[in-house]
Amino acid sequence: MARNFNVAAEKLGLDEGLREVLRRPDRELTVALPVLMDDGKLKVFTGYRVQHNFSRGPCKGGIRYAPDVNLDEVRALSAWMTWKCAVVDVPFGGGKGGIICDPRTMSLGELERLTRRYTAAIMDILGPDRDVPAPDVNTNEQTMAWVMDTYSMHVRRTTTAVVTGKPLVLGGSRGRREATGRGVMLTCREALKKLGMRPENTRVVVQGAGNVGGIGAELMHREGYKIVSISDMYGAIANEKGLDIPAVMAHQKKTGRLAGFPGARELTGEAALELPCEVLVPAATENQITSKNADRIHARLIIEGANGPTTDSADAILEKKGVMIVPDILANAGGVTVSYFEWVQDRMGYFWTEQRVNTSLEQIMVKSFDDVYAMMQKYKCSMRIAAYILSIDRVASVYRLRGVFA
Ligand code: GLU
Repeated sequence: MARNFNVAAEKLGLDEGLREVLRRPDRELTVALPVLMDDGKLKVFTGYRVQHNFSRGPCKGGIRYAPDVNLDEVRALSAWMTWKCAVVDVPFGGGKGGIICDPRTMSLGELERLTRRYTAAIMDILGPDRDVPAPDVNTNEQTMAWVMDTYSMHVRRTTTAVVTGKPLVLGGSRGRREATGRGVMLTCREALKKLGMRPENTRVVVQGAGNVGGIGAELMHREGYKIVSISDMYGAIANEKGLDIPAVMAHQKKTGRLAGFPGARELTGEAALELPCEVLVPAATENQITSKNADRIHARLIIEGANGPTTDSADAILEKKGVMIVPDILANAGGVTVSYFEWVQDRMGYFWTEQRVNTSLEQIMVKSFDDVYAMMQKYKCSMRIAAYILSIDRVASVYRLRGVFA
């Protein structure tokens, strides 16, 4: 990401002082979280919340739970959120949080106590006008309900707008759960038009079967794409004739994994990335397409559902091969866009229909795609660099107008 930032800043002719400001997070908080485990013992977890930049509005970004969470990762993800919010032009800055833990080995009670303790520990920097978390890897609507309740108990009033991605009955938005997958589907549709391709003749490999990959695959299947492979953390399934995605998702819901789905062969997640296809949707985690496998990728089009799935060196290899990449800060921005709608609805106390949410999301995704595409043509660069140029310019112009507080 640092490389992309530098290339875009150079093309924009951004002055060195502003570059320095935008490279560094505004604030980083590390907290120790003692939690009473089910066996009666105390365990201390480590949590982070990084606020990269709030010049365009309150910080916005998810909270992830995983054993390999670290400050560097959260820092990078918080900067991605700043650029993502600016690409789709929602009035937020970037933030991100994480806790080092393995949610697969924890009970619901332990996860609830951990989430509440984390919320209490970062209370001072949270709030509807300060920093508004959302779900990310291994967190969900229930996690957000606990954050909302803990915050509300501390401030002594129900404050729904402090988090997004909440259950509908607690001030969540219709269409939020599907929003990231819907954004992936919409940006893929726009990219296909540019390439002169049609969904019916398009084979898709999806990496990830969660909120982004699973829902993205379902929506793309509905649009007529042939989903030839999908994977989860245990491995991939494939069928060259196309998978019946609703049946695959029902199987996953029932058994907890994709493996064992009748009518599909099984392979490793890494091997699936190299299957013959026209479109690849990496929708799991960072650094999945690297210099080691980039050469063996068949796709003509990559839609980055995950944050940072392609390394810088892989990016260069793919660009040389002429692969079109719709970058993460555009392709997966549907989630934060509907988070913005959720925040607006909570503050108004007036809730939209699903149709209004989906229509507004579509307008923003199509406009953002066109804005990035136009930048790409203007600066003769990749879509990724174009997305950075667009977003850095938006943040920088706000920064210049506000001036430096002294
Ligand atoms: N975690 C999601 C992301 O990486 C959503 C963030 C949000 O809605 O605030 O974009």
